[in-house]
Amino acid sequence: MGRLFGTNGVRGVANRELTVELVTRLAASIGAYFGGSVAVGRDGRTTSPMFRDAAVCGLISVGCSVHDAGMLPTPALQHAVRSNGLSAGIMITASHNPPEFNGLKVIASDGVEASRGQEAEIEEIYFGGGPELSPWDGIGTVHRLEALEAYQEAIISHVGVKRIREAGLKVAIDPGNGVAALSAPGIARALAGEVFTVNVDVDGRFPNRVSEPRPDNLGGLQALVRASGADLGVAYDGDGDRSIFVDELGEVHWGDRSFALLAREFIRKNPGERVASPVNSSRALGEVVSGVGGSVVWTQVGSVVVSRRMVEEGIPFGGEENGGIMYGPHLQVRDGSMALALIMEVMAETGKPLSQLFGELPQYSQLKDRVSCPEELKEAVLEALRGRVDAPRVETIDGVKLIYDDESWVLFRPSGTEPIFRIYAEAESPERVEALVEEYKTLIESVVESLR
Ligand code: MG
Repeated sequence: MGRLFGTNGVRGVANRELTVELVTRLAASIGAYFGGSVAVGRDGRTTSPMFRDAAVCGLISVGCSVHDAGMLPTPALQHAVRSNGLSAGIMITASHNPPEFNGLKVIASDGVEASRGQEAEIEEIYFGGGPELSPWDGIGTVHRLEALEAYQEAIISHVGVKRIREAGLKVAIDPGNGVAALSAPGIARALAGEVFTVNVDVDGRFPNRVSEPRPDNLGGLQALVRASGADLGVAYDGDGDRSIFVDELGEVHWGDRSFALLAREFIRKNPGERVASPVNSSRALGEVVSGVGGSVVWTQVGSVVVSRRMVEEGIPFGGEENGGIMYGPHLQVRDGSMALALIMEVMAETGKPLSQLFGELPQYSQLKDRVSCPEELKEAVLEALRGRVDAPRVETIDGVKLIYDDESWVLFRPSGTEPIFRIYAEAESPERVEALVEEYKTLIESVVESLR
């Protein structure tokens, strides 16, 4: 992990870790690295206009031509970068973080977040001599970029509009006061019979619910689904790349279930294809994908890793357990509005209620936990753990994943952003999954203690 870039771009508390000076210099470094025409977009946070202006200043100071796309979801900016043939993009957003945070996501010319290698080269410019500034007659110019309409049209072009419209679906949408409010309702209106919304005013203070859609904070959407008789509900994170679905009974289904459902439908239409997923996704994904003749390419945890792998190996579908759906024919990135269109298409084509579609998927007990571990000990702890664990199958794609004969598994890996080890486990029964987490939590704690 770099000194500025974390798992997903650069993040920090505005005016504390993330300052106008930092953003200006970083944007100039990004501009110096990519050159040419760079799109800039922002989410609805109160500090985003300030950081957008800082990014624009940094970019034109190194001679880049800036295309200011204004306020829009991250995947809409990603689409704009690729479809307009721009050399890069900078999205001012802290995704689902609390309102005091902000950050930058850097987008390469293919519309996908910059690779770890590109991030490292940008950091080298930033921490080295700094970007070379343009002479007075070489500074860049700023243009407006209208991106939202083309983005929505692109999404709609990937689904069977007529058939979905005929189904007359009723859709409830909760953007959580984030920028998905600018795209998801419009896409739903083009496809649905009726659209209902809650928390639809963009408000960077996130006054109504935490910006990360979680089963425990979607009460508003669940109530809206039940009251309106909607066929489905969808909730978004702050920048609109992640989506979590609610069925017609008001039940929340976690992201690995919508991922598995859409992956299954994708493979049915594209026989023998592959799906990319981080190693912490449910085994249900592997089962449903192989059940229809596809296969899963397991990757390290992190959406950028999955997206980059899709690009490199031509894998057409990907996702993450937290509600990030990547539909390659559109863009190899997480896109919550694309996910909504795809779910509506599955419902229209099968004629089945969403609760039934989710009910067809295998369901297992899952548990996550964490153990504190100082940053400087992470490598040594992981090394020591490798020597002390054993299971019928051991995978080391990311951290260590132990898979037992009953197909239950436990995965532990050092977090890329916090001084902790993350533990994930899955099994047939809650008792088994609890026992697994307890066993490895105790082991990791004792190893951390012994190395202190
Ligand atoms: Mg996000």
